[in-house]
Amino acid sequence: MQIYEGRSVSKGIAAGRINVYKKNSRQVKRVKITDAKAEIARFEEAKVQAVKQLQALYDKALCEVGASTAAIFEVYQMIVEDDQYNDSIKRMIRTRQVNAEYAVASAGADFAQMFASMDDDYMKERAADVRDISERVISVLDKTGSGQETAEEPFILAADDLTPSETVQLDKELVLAVVTVHGSLHSHTAILARTMGIPALVGTALPLDDAIDGRFGIVDGASGKIYVDPDEQTLAEMKIKQKEELERKELLLKLRGRENVTLDGKKVMLYANIGNIKDLAAAVQNDADGIGLFRSEFIYLEKDRYPTEEEQFQIYKQAAEAMAGRRVIIRTLDIGADKQCGYFEMEKEENPALGCRAIRICLTRPNLFKTQLRALFRASVYGEIAIMYPMITSVWEVKRIREIAALVKAELAEQGMKFGEPEQGIMIETPAAALVSGELAKESDFFSIGTNDLTQYTLAVDRQNTKLDPFYDPHHPAVLRMISMAVESAHRAGIPVGICGELGADQTLTREFLAMGVDELSVSPENILPLRKIILETNVQEYRAGK
Ligand code: PEP
Ligand code: MG
Repeated sequence: MQIYEGRSVSKGIAAGRINVYKKNSRQVKRVKITDAKAEIARFEEAKVQAVKQLQALYDKALCEVGASTAAIFEVYQMIVEDDQYNDSIKRMIRTRQVNAEYAVASAGADFAQMFASMDDDYMKERAADVRDISERVISVLDKTGSGQETAEEPFILAADDLTPSETVQLDKELVLAVVTVHGSLHSHTAILARTMGIPALVGTALPLDDAIDGRFGIVDGASGKIYVDPDEQTLAEMKIKQKEELERKELLLKLRGRENVTLDGKKVMLYANIGNIKDLAAAVQNDADGIGLFRSEFIYLEKDRYPTEEEQFQIYKQAAEAMAGRRVIIRTLDIGADKQCGYFEMEKEENPALGCRAIRICLTRPNLFKTQLRALFRASVYGEIAIMYPMITSVWEVKRIREIAALVKAELAEQGMKFGEPEQGIMIETPAAALVSGELAKESDFFSIGTNDLTQYTLAVDRQNTKLDPFYDPHHPAVLRMISMAVESAHRAGIPVGICGELGADQTLTREFLAMGVDELSVSPENILPLRKIILETNVQEYRAGK
């Protein structure tokens, strides 16, 4: 047994095979097979097809570009016939009982790595050839498909780091836990893992090689450990812990259907943060009063082109309908900083977190903004949608947004399209917004405090930089004062105020937020019932008096 320790991003226990995510290579699904002989035959057949394709390419290249350039395809053929390459693929299929696609991807990546680490420049360049040929064999295999009864095995995902767009493209049904070598506690990837409710660790010195890939592991999100090939005693201990966790969850489920009212009668809304319509199920299951933050940018991150108005409309409509009259606050796109979309073709920036991000993109590319607003206004006919604007710093921005929104409504009316009148609120996630929250409140229907960015910008600490984790302190009095200031401004103007940053789920602060008068907390679905329990047990007046 080996134990690797990291920092916990999301609690829970998960057990399963470890799947090492290889960057820049096609992410091939690992599937458990039952008939290794048949799988090896599939590989052999795919190889014959690949060699035929390469021969055709060689012939074409010979005519078009001459023998010396065409020779590359001869090298490819040599690789695909190479004994060592073939043996390692077949061995992997036999001993690990994995599908041919996975074995080719895995062995191909190891071979490519071996070439890349050679001193000889010619040999180094062969690494790309190995990757290329492996891709070709996999694409032949993909088309033929496995005839076997295969069940895709859920797995523990191990990676160096994951970008938000890589995280959203994962097949979440299959990911049991996420363990990364890098990555900060406050990154969007960490937030996504919490939203998905799966155990996750960052900063774990797990070797991401063949020695780990495919081995059995247990992730303990609470202690921040991953056990590789756990011994009997650890297995037994983890089983007990898992059982206790389940019991705790069941106990909390008894709170379903209860209102979130304090002992002295203050009612608070508990909403869920989601990144995807698939997360709606968890929100409903955990009895969310609504959705407090739908991070719509993930719709953009999942695609390699701009989502159309119709595609967005269908998603927002589905969210509104699924929540059946409960409030769904959809945040307009917050692309930029760590959430990069290639097709946005943004210029490279020295300081992306202080750069063209979120509302700044929308205000400089009004057509892009209008497409999203049209979809939101149209979808709001089907439920209680509210629109929320991120990264606000100034009153003029909100005024400009309102003008664009009015234009969108006028256009929809002219075209005879149905649309609703959703509330429009803003995020308070910059110190500027907190400081001018009095003025902003007059232009907004509600506030939602984004404590993740508010902490980053107030303390001047990059939330992505894991080395700065000790300095990233959302409990800092400066941050708490900003929150309190925003709450007071909202109430003075008679509008509600919530918290949708990760701090909203911090149980050590729940009473403090209640005392400040926060009207709503929006948290990852699994945090809703634990917070309900605290609210039901709190007397706000007494807490205030005892401070
Ligand atoms: C925040 O900044 O607190 C927030 C909720 O937005 P995000 O984490 O998506 O930047
Ligand atoms: Mg933010």
